[in-house]
Amino acid sequence: MKGTLKLGSVAGIKIEVHWTFTLLLLWVVFLDIQRGGNLSSAILNIIFILLLFVCVVLHELGHALTARRYNIATRQITLLPIGGVASLEKMPEKPGQELLVALAGPAVNVLIALLLLAVVPLRVYLGMDAESLEQLINAPSIETLLFYLLIANIMLVAFNLIPAFPMDGGRVFRAILSFTMDRTKATEIAASLGQVLAVVFFILGLFYNPFLVLIALFIFIGAYGESKMVKQTSLVEGHVVAEATLTNITVLHPDTELSEVVDIIIAGSEKDFVVMDGNIIVGLLYHKDILKNAKNVSLKVRDIMNTQFKALRASAALQEFFNLLAGERNLFFPVIDKKGSLIGAIDMSNVSEFLVLKAQATSGI
Ligand code: ZN
Repeated sequence: MKGTLKLGSVAGIKIEVHWTFTLLLLWVVFLDIQRGGNLSSAILNIIFILLLFVCVVLHELGHALTARRYNIATRQITLLPIGGVASLEKMPEKPGQELLVALAGPAVNVLIALLLLAVVPLRVYLGMDAESLEQLINAPSIETLLFYLLIANIMLVAFNLIPAFPMDGGRVFRAILSFTMDRTKATEIAASLGQVLAVVFFILGLFYNPFLVLIALFIFIGAYGESKMVKQTSLVEGHVVAEATLTNITVLHPDTELSEVVDIIIAGSEKDFVVMDGNIIVGLLYHKDILKNAKNVSLKVRDIMNTQFKALRASAALQEFFNLLAGERNLFFPVIDKKGSLIGAIDMSNVSEFLVLKAQATSGI
């Protein structure tokens, strides 16, 4: 994601924070000043937000480390003002595994809440009358901070278990359905429930709390995205990379001059290129880099080619292509055979064309 700052890594997973997160901290300070707070209450509030986000990171690590047990890697965990996102390579398709991965996040917050329960004197709080309780929770102290953290973790569990995508509850619901039906159908049902809930939240939000309207939109978009993704997955099923590979491609040499590449682009319809030195693929030249440097014709391919790239096996499932897309900005990959020799290349437009043609062939048009 653009505009993120790397904080470090845990168990080999990058932890990043998006710059908009600082807005949240500023907002908290602003609210505090407005309420007539002092420096110590502002500091306590910021500590609270930071601790809350540690809880969110632990939640995401719960997902990521459970997914790792099923050989699914996580590229990074990104902190946004609205919460965390663990970028899993993919979700496990076996319902039992998906269920565990989805539940692992909220389970972490249940655990944190239980630990906090051990130190927060909840019983004492509940025994107080409303007025002194209000006084207590409005007074900034470590004790109230832990109390808020407890409430926040309980809310995180409740919020995440709403049975709607992109919340964990949506995945839990789909996984449970998938035990008795195929995944596409299960996703459709789970996505529909999510959309119904989104409408309910939207209406409630209009009357009671604008925050619910925001959640409604979030759920609505999530449900749409998830069902689209699963439909695409079922379309791709049973096909291999070789079927959608462009085999008639121009291969460039690192010493080819950029002016020559520009001529090739104008004469044909190729946009991205594989660069080879002898029999070895040494890089990829992307359309956007050619455009950026088109004026500087003295450059050679080697000056602007990308040497960090992934290749796909011709015999791999076509789904692998979509799995790669999730973490890449450039949607162009070389395709190789078992021995590592170049067969061709694959990009989004060719895969789309392949899928459209296949869908027409099967529907008999
Ligand atoms: Zn989660």
